Amino acid sequence: MSEISQLALFGDDTAVPASTRAWRPLREPLPARTVARFWAKVVVTPTCHLWRGSVSYPDGYGRFTFTDGGTPRTLSAHRVALVIVHGDLGDGVIGEHDCDESLCVRVGDGHLKLGTQAANLAHAVAIGRHLGPTPAYRDPRGRYGRAVAIRDALLDGYDPGRLRAALSGTDANAIAAPTLF
Ligand SMILES: [Zn+2]
Repeated sequence: MSEISQLALFGDDTAVPASTRAWRPLREPLPARTVARFWAKVVVTPTCHLWRGSVSYPDGYGRFTFTDGGTPRTLSAHRVALVIVHGDLGDGVIGEHDCDESLCVRVGDGHLKLGTQAANLAHAVAIGRHLGPTPAYRDPRGRYGRAVAIRDALLDGYDPGRLRAALSGTDANAIAAPTLF
């Protein structure tokens, strides 16, 4: 099985075109223990609720592996958050980040919402994210590198200075000014 078809099987919305993506329904609703394990990997900040678990390369989305009906399954963390809040997703339904933080799993206005590939593309075009493989993304760390830096800044919990440094790509030690977070 090719990597692409594997990703499609997992319902990952980041690596395959919409035309080849199919959502495989969950075999069972997420058990409470799985939901609890998921939220244990989330750090709540005054704005985004950020994933501090595994990060996918190269898109920089969170990844969560769980057991679905006895079978291991891995999904993007933001998709799992949407499933927890909205129930199982249908074909062609994707998660959209209004906050543009790939690790954000906060479902609600200004952060993560249900959307369609077409709407997501329009949003990407609007912010210039659709241009090229590391599209118009001015951060030299790239999406993955930036996400890993943010994740690592959260490993000991919410630390406004460390998080701000990771978000901006600057050295945490060089930041002494008051932060907005
Ligand atoms: Zn957010």
